[in-house]
Amino acid sequence: MSKLKRFLILPEERVGDRIVVSGSEFHHIVNVMRFSVGDLAILGVGDGVDLLARVHEILKDKVIFRIEEERPNPAEPRLQLSAYLALLKSDHLEFAVQKLSELGLRSVTPFVSEHTVAKGVRADRLVKIARESAKQCERSGILQIRETLSFDRVLRELPLHEAALFCCEFERATGIRQALNALPEGLTRLAVIIGPEGGFSEKEKEEAVRAGAVSVSLGPRILRAETAAVAACTCAMYRFGEMEGAAEVL
Ligand code: SAH
Repeated sequence: MSKLKRFLILPEERVGDRIVVSGSEFHHIVNVMRFSVGDLAILGVGDGVDLLARVHEILKDKVIFRIEEERPNPAEPRLQLSAYLALLKSDHLEFAVQKLSELGLRSVTPFVSEHTVAKGVRADRLVKIARESAKQCERSGILQIRETLSFDRVLRELPLHEAALFCCEFERATGIRQALNALPEGLTRLAVIIGPEGGFSEKEKEEAVRAGAVSVSLGPRILRAETAAVAACTCAMYRFGEMEGAAEVL
């Protein structure tokens, strides 16, 4: 059986049990992928739910699918992992977003800290990278790019998660393995916080710990921020059993 193709749709393109696709995705489905009436595909809006749908009708500028089944996507992790990344030079942030999307993260929230030098975020580029990555790695959930927060705001929203790991390049006492192993097995919401190229300050570490985060080391070498983000998130996914099983062929 050949593998079903996946397409991302806009929420408003779904009307009851029909999906009406127009614009560039219509062109892609009909003219490039050569879909015809009766063909099956997997469509989704990026919320982690797969819509198994069959082409019902092809019109001049739109293709109409009929939904046959709706089911959670098997590639979406149970662990809802969110990364808070201090602003980085834009290509470094883009790298991090692409890799974190592949690892199955829920969201990336950029923030500004004491030693942050990078100025802004090219949010449109990051959103595009997250969408393209979702397609490439066959996720039906799209990594959400949130608006940039202050460091204070990041700390204030930590209660949204069950635990938060503050990756601190000068932490000596606690390693990430110890911190992850101490978390309860059934945990579902976890945050990882990564500093800027200039690193975190002592004061920021104290504030983060006071806000309930666990300060962790990623080892005796200084990693680039984007490497630290990928490494810490990989460890977390591994700890909660999300690095197992093969990609499902539908
Ligand atoms: N300029 C700083 C390093 C910053 S590295 C210095 O020279 O000390 C950027 C960020 O990556 C850090 O703020 C931290 O969040 C993370 N990071 C890098 N290496 C790390 C390590 N060994 N342990 C924990 N976090 C690390």
